This record gives sequence, C-alpha cells and structure tokens, in this order.
Amino acid sequence: MSKHVVILGAGYAGLRALHELQRGNEELRITLVDQNEYHFEATDIHEVAAGIQTSERITYPIKDVVKKECTTFIQGTVEKIDSDKQLVFLKDHEAISYDYLIVALGYESESFGIPGVEEFSLKMVDIPTSEKVHQHLVAQMKAYKETKDENYLKIVVCGAGFTGIELLGSLVEGKKKLAEIADVAPEKIQLYCVEAVTRLLPMFSEKLGGYGINHLKKWGVQFLVGKPIKEIKQDTVVYLDNQETNALAELNAKTIIWTTGVSGSHVVGASGFAAKRGRVMVQPDLTDPEHKNVYIIGDCSAVMDQESQRPYPTTAQISLKMGEHAGKNIKAQLKGQPTKAFTFKSLGSVASIGNSHAFGEVGKVEVKGYPASVIKKAIMDRSLFETGGIKEMLAKGRFDFYH
Ligand code: NAD
Repeated sequence: MSKHVVILGAGYAGLRALHELQRGNEELRITLVDQNEYHFEATDIHEVAAGIQTSERITYPIKDVVKKECTTFIQGTVEKIDSDKQLVFLKDHEAISYDYLIVALGYESESFGIPGVEEFSLKMVDIPTSEKVHQHLVAQMKAYKETKDENYLKIVVCGAGFTGIELLGSLVEGKKKLAEIADVAPEKIQLYCVEAVTRLLPMFSEKLGGYGINHLKKWGVQFLVGKPIKEIKQDTVVYLDNQETNALAELNAKTIIWTTGVSGSHVVGASGFAAKRGRVMVQPDLTDPEHKNVYIIGDCSAVMDQESQRPYPTTAQISLKMGEHAGKNIKAQLKGQPTKAFTFKSLGSVASIGNSHAFGEVGKVEVKGYPASVIKKAIMDRSLFETGGIKEMLAKGRFDFYH
C-alpha cells in the first residue's frame, strides 16, 4: 500500500515540496490542500494594493502544477490537525488521514493585541486583502473629489519593516493614477509611515537602509520614527509621541494600512503544536519535535541558524529551500534512510521601492538603484520558475528581458 503524504498550503514552501515529491519514482499518494484554487506571489502583493499590478499577473492556477497521476488537489480550509490520530480536519469536508504531513500554511497579520487594529485598519496579507486596499484607495480618491476633505488623500502605513517599505515604494508609484481619480496633483496625496523604532531595517547597514529611506523621503513620504502605535481608532492612528512624558499624539487619515509584522498560521497553535506566534521551533531536519512524520516549513516554522544562534528570518527564499528539503527528507524516510539537517545560505535580500528602484545585499555585496531592482526580479522569477515552471513564467511575461 503506497504511503499518503498530505501537504497543507500551496504557497512557496508547500508547492516547492510538492514539486520535489512529484519528481521521485517512489510509490506515493499526495494530497495538496489550499483554501484557494490559485498560488499567489506573496512578495508582490504590495503592488496589487497600490494598484500598480493586477492580481492576475501574480497568481496562477494550482492545477497547472499538480500531476494527476499521483496528486489530488482539494480546495478547502484547514481547521485543525490531530497529529496523534494523523488526521487533518477541514471546513465542510471529511477529515483526511496521512502517513506524512507537511504543514506549510503560511503567515497571518499580527496585531500584537493593539486595540482597534482589526476594526479600523486594513490588512495586506493575500490577494483579497490587497485588492481590498486598492478598492479602498480608489473609493477615498472619489470621496475627495466630492468633498474636498484632505483626509481622504492621506495614507498611513503602520510599520517600516520590509513590507511597509516596499508598500510605500509602490504607493509612491501608484500616486499618479490615484491623483487622476481624485483630480488633484500627485503631490497632494500624502504618504506617512509610523514606526516604533528609530533604527530602521536592522538587517542592513545604516548606510544601505538610509539609502532606501532617503529615497522614499525624497519622493515625499513622511516618516514618524520612534513612535510606537498604541491604538487605531476610526480614521486615526494613536501613537506614543514622547517616551519620557508618555504623551500620545494622533494622526488622522482615511486610509490606514497595518504592516507591523506577521505570525504563522493560527491553525498551528490551535492544533496543539508548541508554537510561539504561530511558529514552531522545528528539529534540524524540519520535523516537529514530537512527530517524526510531521514537517513544519515556511512561515509556520522557526529554524535555528547555528551561526547566529537566532532563528532565520522568514522569507520566500528560505520557504522554497525548506519545501525542497522536506520533500527530500520524506523520500529518504520512505526508503528507510536517515533524514538530513537543513542548511541555508541566503542569496541575499533585496527590497524594491517602486518598479525600478531597490536596495539590498547579495552575498556580502550591497546593491542599490536600478541594478538592484533587476536582481530582485531575477530572484523572484527564479522562484516562479522553481514552483510553476517555465510555462508560467513566460505566460505571465515575468521573464522581463527589457526591464
Ligand atoms: P517586520 O517584523 O520585518 O517589520 C515590522 C515593522 O513594524 C518593524 O520595523 C517594527 O518595529 C514595526 N512595528 C511593530 N509594532 C509596531 C507598532 N506598534 N507601532 C509602530 N511600528 C511597529 O514585518 P514585515 O515587514 O511584515 O515582514 C515580515 C517578514 O517577511 C520579515 O521576516 C521580512 O524580512 C519578510 N519580508 C521580506 C521581503 C523581501 O525579502 N523583499 C519583503 C517583505 C517581507
């Protein structure tokens, strides 16, 4: 009887694992589960939110990468895993049993329990939430045209991490189109970023981080740094303005976008895995400490970097590598061979600010400006290639020789 591998999540990690498992000659049955019928390029959703990219260009059908001979795709929402009974429970679907499980359920927006975040700010974590941000922006521009209330032209991005910075870059680029809807000059649209700490983008040198931030400032973004957000109210961001006196201040805006960090899927904690903010500190071979047949990979997983003695940051790049590694380890287990420890050497990280500017590090080399943006596209096109294949890349026009 062939073994059954169940993969939960068709993001970078899950699809890369599927690709690896489908490549083998092993006698295997695979079931892939995702709530959507499409995979989306999570690294590009800020472009959809800002209206400079359509969601169609960053999504592709999961069925295109599923080999029907060995894999079944179920579109469904995972509610819970019972790792002792080896069962996965889905909403409106019978439970699925497994021999091996790969949990690759990705990330969720993290509110840190700050009041009002859920009610009064917009998330940007997937295709529907990113499209919602864009629709909201368009509605505010139309409302400005009617009312001339300048609050409709104000946009606040909460948090200046990678996500916030890339979103600001895309919003700068999207301003022109939005301004046309509002019938104003693009400079009239005001972009703010409120950030808790003063040392931005700590993964980069101060000089390199400063390069990106200074570009955004030059393009009109106003940064309020060292100002932790304490509450979100209707059309209002409340932040700590003075750490000594504890004085609060308010910033009014009709668009407030929440990008202060992410946690792993809530399903992980709800299923009894030992998770902190939805992430499980996995074994070196990427299995759950309690279950040798359960792999936890991607943003639900924390893997210790033996060099720095800190968990690796969650990125698309490491998710792809974990997917491949989990697939290989399951194949080894099926042959009765030992699993291998995961190792990771980052190709580098690059943050794009708009379509033709970026900054980051590739190896030990700092890259900036237009060349950096070409490198960023090359890294992402490679990820599309690794999960979707050449057909998807060409079909999307992503292999952009003329960039
Ligand atoms: P993050 O944790 O990297 O950044 C969040 C930012 O919000 C931090 O600067 C933090 O100080 C700030 N913040 C937190 N609470 C706040 C508060 N109450 N008030 C004001 N500011 C607050 O999160 P992210 O940017 O969502 O990124 C998540 C992960 O994804 C990271 O590991 C990141 O490296 C990765 N990522 C990588 C890329 C890329 O490689 N190009 C792009 C996007 C995200």
